[in-house]
Amino acid sequence: MHRNIFEEDHDIFRDSVAKFLQAEVTPHLERWLEAGIIDRELFLKAGDQGYCLMWADEAYGGMGVHDFRFEQILIEENALHGDAGFGLGLHSRLCGPYIGQLGNEEQKQRLLPGCISGETILGIAMTEPGAGSDVAGIRTHAQEQDDHWVLNGSKTYISNGINGDLFIVAARTVPDHPHGIGLFLVERGMDGFTRGRNLKKLGLKAQDTAELFFDNVQVPKANVLGDPRKGFYYLMQFLAEERLIVACGCVAAAEAALRMTLDYVRERRAFGRAIAEFQNTRFKLAEMRTRIDAAQVFIDRCVMDHNEGKLTAEVAAEAKLFASEVEALVTDECLQLHGGAGYMDEYPISRLYANARVSRIYAGSSEIMKEIIARSMGLDPRRGAA
Ligand SMILES: Cc1cc2nc3c(=O)[nH]c(=O)nc-3n(C[C@H](O)[C@H](O)[C@H](O)COP(=O)(O)OP(=O)(O)OC[C@H]3O[C@@H](n4cnc5c(N)ncnc54)[C@H](O)[C@@H]3O)c2cc1C
Repeated sequence: MHRNIFEEDHDIFRDSVAKFLQAEVTPHLERWLEAGIIDRELFLKAGDQGYCLMWADEAYGGMGVHDFRFEQILIEENALHGDAGFGLGLHSRLCGPYIGQLGNEEQKQRLLPGCISGETILGIAMTEPGAGSDVAGIRTHAQEQDDHWVLNGSKTYISNGINGDLFIVAARTVPDHPHGIGLFLVERGMDGFTRGRNLKKLGLKAQDTAELFFDNVQVPKANVLGDPRKGFYYLMQFLAEERLIVACGCVAAAEAALRMTLDYVRERRAFGRAIAEFQNTRFKLAEMRTRIDAAQVFIDRCVMDHNEGKLTAEVAAEAKLFASEVEALVTDECLQLHGGAGYMDEYPISRLYANARVSRIYAGSSEIMKEIIARSMGLDPRRGAA
């Protein structure tokens, strides 16, 4: 289906991103998948191209590009020609804006240039062994002392956890208030800050995911983002964009799966003809084409609404819920059409299938998305409305 949200500049940008990824990711991908981590130089190379924190002002070395469509293109092309293990969106658009929007001038001048060049890799650490969906349940805490805060606790499943240099860490600052949370910038090399191993996982094999530990880490007050007691509200404020970012990636991954499956079924033969000729194959592919197009139209509309500052948390939750379910269904059906080959590592559909499984879990699970959507419909048991 023709997409009507892009202009010539976007098409030119898409072309150059695709070429960049083909040159800088494809040749190394097998090694990175094996190692469970990408070379951190990839961020530097992306920074050279201006792909890191494109939205940042020129004063800090950024491009000042606020049009989310460019970010969407990076995400889509990474799904088609790169690898979901390259956490560029996480670095650039999910973590970077915390510094760009909550940081004071000194923090922006000190930290943004390194993030824009790709020298400083970002991560965000909310989840803990005992609290994921329930952010208000975190136990990592920070205590104020003179010119710093003393941070204690641990985080888990943190993306860019090994390569990362600077983490936005959520920690409790008001002991008896569930929403009394602060956001602390913890830097590589700070005393008492250590990381666990690179966690082995089902998919996203080239992405480093790790545990982080904080043992009396002295975080200078200069590394606190905004008001140290309003972190919970800040997190909620950024979640709509986070969900849109994930939704863009889900539809793009589904599109990638469909394209490789179309090639496969045309070539693979059974009972004297191409698999593509069976009615079941054609009907499955037709259904998938329809679902992806419908999801894409919805996501594109969300992107345009987001550009105008009109994307609500509820609609972003719908986008993430729907797109991740389309990705799950499409990658599953596409793997099925590959037969046994689809189960083998050497066929990339197996990777897309495994990667897709996390989309319904992270950045807010499908169940949490449904909670948010239901509450927006006036169905909120906490208020006795249900
Ligand atoms: C590969 C990967 C990368 C990640 N990267 C990061 C990262 O960079 N930073 C970070 O902070 N976190 C990260 N996470 C963590 C991720 O955000 C959490 O796993 C996710 O929010 C779910 O939390 P949980 O794992 O604690 O599950 P739980 O909260 O324990 O949920 C378990 C199940 O219960 C359901 N459930 C929970 N509450 C409700 C409810 N109210 N109603 C109905 N059902 C409910 C959930 O939907 C889920 O099905 C990552 C996770 C993975 C797997």
